[in-house]
Amino acid sequence: MSYQTTNPYSEQIEQTFTPHSDAQMETILAQAATTFESDWRQRSFAERKAVVKKAASLLKEQRDDFAKLITLEMGKLFKEAQQEVSLCVKILDYYADNAEQFLAPKQLDVKRGEASVEIAPLGVIFCVEPWNFPYYQLARVAGPNLMAGNTLVVKHASNVPQCALAFEKLFTDAGAPAGAYTNAFFSSEQVATAIADPRVQGVALTGSERAGASVAATAGKALKKTTMELGGSDAFIVLDDADMDLAVKLAVIGRIQNSGQVCDGSKRFILADSIADTFVERFQAELAKLQAGDPMDAATTLAPLSSKAALELAVKQVGQAVEGGAKVLLGGKQVDRTGYFMEPTILTDVKPDNPVYYQEFFAPVAMIFRVKDENEAVTLANDSPFGLGGTIVTTDIARAKKLASQIETGMVFINSPAITAPDLPFGGVKHSGYGRELSDLGIMEFVNRKLVLVG
Ligand code: NAP
Repeated sequence: MSYQTTNPYSEQIEQTFTPHSDAQMETILAQAATTFESDWRQRSFAERKAVVKKAASLLKEQRDDFAKLITLEMGKLFKEAQQEVSLCVKILDYYADNAEQFLAPKQLDVKRGEASVEIAPLGVIFCVEPWNFPYYQLARVAGPNLMAGNTLVVKHASNVPQCALAFEKLFTDAGAPAGAYTNAFFSSEQVATAIADPRVQGVALTGSERAGASVAATAGKALKKTTMELGGSDAFIVLDDADMDLAVKLAVIGRIQNSGQVCDGSKRFILADSIADTFVERFQAELAKLQAGDPMDAATTLAPLSSKAALELAVKQVGQAVEGGAKVLLGGKQVDRTGYFMEPTILTDVKPDNPVYYQEFFAPVAMIFRVKDENEAVTLANDSPFGLGGTIVTTDIARAKKLASQIETGMVFINSPAITAPDLPFGGVKHSGYGRELSDLGIMEFVNRKLVLVG
């Protein structure tokens, strides 16, 4: 595994980093464990809060410097990168402000004696994170765990090493002790060794099913608690009474944000028959307008994909779809220019026997399905190995809430694309993983809920 910055817009290799040796891995784990025992877990909430708040304020001050690294390393539109950094500021602030209340001891109403549950940190938490939101994914683990008193060792994706280092430096600059938050340029073999190490108490992974299954198996063998935030193929259901302007606007955001590289992006468009033609015509017209270009330029509306491999995979999947009987209504190819750009693509006639029917498209590729009624819409939405999120567009909120109850995912958004905020729990079911990040649920994943009973 080589840790390297390759600019997806210019295709130029910018910088290469030396992976950590086994001896360095030992030093990193030892430091994280020592800092946990002798320092970080001993600090009061107010002391931890001062560090995390400082990190949030530094991030806010240096927003554009942080954002530029995202665009450089994985090609995100600069304005989306700025929004990502601002969201991270909110996440760090949220946990700094609320952790003490979330983790306060709770008295139990018991029949015998006096009982309470107190909440204690676990120790070193090992994290494996993806490139698609290079800081947001880190903030989702750093905010809650640092405030809970855990220390973190984080293996980031190999294509965003500068973002990984910038986030580590953020906590050093904020006054965190060495070992509170450490970046790890580890190989997959070293990840397995680190997870099995007795000093590591929990493992959080965000990434693909493949990586999740591998890391969860290693952690399971070592009896380590894990959370898994994996892929998705979210349904975007448009009912017959939907406001068509809103439906098209949300569909474009849902599919195109981050060039389609969003775990809970809208990927399967499930349309009531009566509105399907109108929706498709307008959706296609909007996607056709998108302009590939320099992601630093505010006029660009289509960013490159994160890597050559990501582009090749998307083009290959479209080819498989067509071989399996799908029709390409729009796009389907690499954009004819330098950079890893994929044309905005619409596929129709994707039947259950098509090889891509159950696959995730991590690119600006939309699959269109038509249904006769809402029961069929729910059946189709649930016919997926994934269960991350989903959107319903309708003017009848009561109807949408009934459907939301029948959809087998961790999140359902009504008249909204998938959104995220510090106080909204994030996570999925089925092959989209388990556990939750963000909100008060996220901070409870790696803590000891300890019963204390006075007999
Ligand atoms: P990926 O290949 O699984 O990479 C994610 C991370 O896992 C990277 O740090 C990667 O390191 C590491 N990794 C991969 N295989 C590993 C192994 N065998 N052992 C240890 N570490 C391993 O994921 P991706 O395809 O780049 O990212 C996109 C996926 O993440 C999509 O499926 C997307 O839906 C999902 N995702 C989910 C969420 C969520 O919250 N549910 C959020 C964002 C993304 P290297 O880079 O060094 O290979």
